[in-house]
Amino acid sequence: MSKIAMTTPIVEMDGDEMTRILWQLIKDELLTPFIDLNTEYYDLGLVHRNETNDQVTVDSAHATEKYKVAVKCATITPNAARVEEYGLKEMWKSPNGTIRAILDGTVFRAPIQVKGITPCVRNWEKPITIARHAYGDVYKASEMKIPGAGKVELVYTAEDGSTEKVLVHEFDGPGIVQGMHNLNGSIESFARSCFTYALDTKQTLWFASKDTISKKYDHTFKDIFQEIFDAEFKEKFDAAGIEYFYTLIDDAVARVMKSKGGFIWACKNYDGDVMSDMLSSAFGSLAMMTSVLVSPKGYYEFEAAHGTVQRHYYKHLKGEETSTNPVATIFAWTGALRKRGELDGNNELIDFAAKLEKATIDTIEGGTMTKDLALITELENVTTLNTQDFIKAIRTTLESEM
Ligand code: NAP
Ligand code: MG
Repeated sequence: MSKIAMTTPIVEMDGDEMTRILWQLIKDELLTPFIDLNTEYYDLGLVHRNETNDQVTVDSAHATEKYKVAVKCATITPNAARVEEYGLKEMWKSPNGTIRAILDGTVFRAPIQVKGITPCVRNWEKPITIARHAYGDVYKASEMKIPGAGKVELVYTAEDGSTEKVLVHEFDGPGIVQGMHNLNGSIESFARSCFTYALDTKQTLWFASKDTISKKYDHTFKDIFQEIFDAEFKEKFDAAGIEYFYTLIDDAVARVMKSKGGFIWACKNYDGDVMSDMLSSAFGSLAMMTSVLVSPKGYYEFEAAHGTVQRHYYKHLKGEETSTNPVATIFAWTGALRKRGELDGNNELIDFAAKLEKATIDTIEGGTMTKDLALITELENVTTLNTQDFIKAIRTTLESEM
């Protein structure tokens, strides 16, 4: 059988720990035997990020602007413990934050549903897609520790030199302070990609923030969404029989729990970070969630929503067996291959992506899975496999279905 050819590269962003192990296994077992894989490789593993003073992360984002499609492995966001563990020169920023700041856009996350795994929330009959704004707020914040009594102010200096000032707090002792920002342009493209995605997938769109408390910051999000909806999308939504509605974030959380699913929930950056982890575990597993960053300029970055699965990696290093679920990482690859295929008119590649996704789901529905799924499935007589053998089982299904 001849391998599928690719005319344009995909930007490949390798990562850390257990997901780096998965990455190589997926390539070896599920991709390179079938595709003449054409990627431009960037090693975003923490060792290499440290060696390049994090330049590799910036380079990989710029490569995504060039080739339009990227696939990213989970990466470590350093904290104090990681600085020590890896002997880092600096506590490098979150690679996802850096990449999202360059590409802008919205992250759409949806559960991968399989028969035999029922969501924890009984009334969720359909998937809930989270649309996470991928720019700014706390991810681009400047922070300060305040050593003692004193005044903190926010100062805006306009280009003409005039200033506007607002008091943050009069400290009478030590404390902390944070300054965050967002851009109207970024919020507008966030709103447009959510409305467009809602129309594409014919799902109602919810958006929520805390505008009652944050009368300027969050209120601006609310206003921009409403203005764009009224001006550009209202009629199209009516025609499609879908709705847009805004509510307070705490009300949204309560309603989500009572809902049947089948809608898109647009979230500010932090809310989306937190809520997507809650939704993915409630739908089954952190490893059963697709995640794609859609930039308003037409760039796509596919990734897994979970982290580097550190605990499994340490077991792996000790030579112990692991049963790490590769599904989200496989779907990151299939998402990127499908999009590459669509942009290049490469039907073979689109077809392969669909086959690999089907083989993955069929393997699980056939009763063969990793431990995280075996613990929650209603299927009986399940075979639980280790990391390597599960990926090999998907390959067997794939070959039998091809
Ligand atoms: P994590 O990697 O998401 O894993 C947390 C726990 O969730 C695991 O210990 C495991 O539970 C379960 N889990 C997650 N993915 C799984 C999978 N594929 N298969 C089976 N179980 C899975 O979070 P973490 O261990 O707290 O974070 C590790 C590193 O990931 C951190 O350094 C963080 O910075 C980074 N991170 C990266 C990204 C990203 O690049 N997108 C996102 C989040 C976090 P059990 O141990 O109970 O089996
Ligand atoms: Mg998160």
